[in-house]
Amino acid sequence: MPELPEVETIVRDLRPVLTGRRFASARLSHDDVLRGVTRPALIRGLAGARVQDVTRRAKHAVLRLDRGTRLVVQPGMTGSLVVYHRALTREESKYGVLRLPLSDGGELVYRDVRRLGTLLLLDERAWVRYDRALGPEPLSPDFTPPRLAEAFRGTRQYVKKALMDQRLVVGVGNIYANEALFAAGIDPSRAANTLPAADVARLHREVQRILNAAIASNGTTFRDYRTGTGERGNFQLELMVYEREGEPCRQCGTPLAGTHSIDARITVFCWRCQGRKDGPTDRRTD
Ligand SMILES: [Zn+2]
Repeated sequence: MPELPEVETIVRDLRPVLTGRRFASARLSHDDVLRGVTRPALIRGLAGARVQDVTRRAKHAVLRLDRGTRLVVQPGMTGSLVVYHRALTREESKYGVLRLPLSDGGELVYRDVRRLGTLLLLDERAWVRYDRALGPEPLSPDFTPPRLAEAFRGTRQYVKKALMDQRLVVGVGNIYANEALFAAGIDPSRAANTLPAADVARLHREVQRILNAAIASNGTTFRDYRTGTGERGNFQLELMVYEREGEPCRQCGTPLAGTHSIDARITVFCWRCQGRKDGPTDRRTD
């Protein structure tokens, strides 16, 4: 799933291309990506609307429109948001779920092979509600080590799950949670509320460092991810643990372990560098 760096990359690519431009029309191939909006309302809301700004909130791209509404795109595992300045290939066209031709040329396409992403069209009130339900942005100045420590104090979840809890901090998904916990040398199955302040501070620093590094290299390349200009990301080479189960730890050489018992997702970690002597089930605190 595209995480914060991937969506940030998409948004940075789209902002200069879309700001001030108008959608000539709107076409939706399938309704199953819509949340809280009907097809006619979406089409009506988008056709003829001008884009005032393109920003990111959590893992979502937010297009602010001149009608006081926002188109919120949560790209799913196979979703991408690209402006094309050429005719689409047959394959691009086949999976183009939402197509928004621009009035002065080009076309914004939300492409999603498996349609796991979602589209929302929010008015001001709905946006405020939506925004408030989300935790702080990890790269914003108000996300500080004490704030993360406070969020962790209130939960007995595994620290990996807590880090991925969008109410505590947004934008960190499986890839970057695995990477940040490894870099900070923290056992992912440790209960978040038992983490000493020094560990929280180190984790906070690594989350920011890794997200910034991933943004600087245009996000991670995994299947179907594309930047806003249709390029692949290139962070893959720098991943320390994600998708490296069984391979030697880049720090100590110990084969990396993988488990699904922390959450439904794969957690890859180093027994030695992340200070774990036993399996996650033996450390359960909740
Ligand atoms: Zn190691």
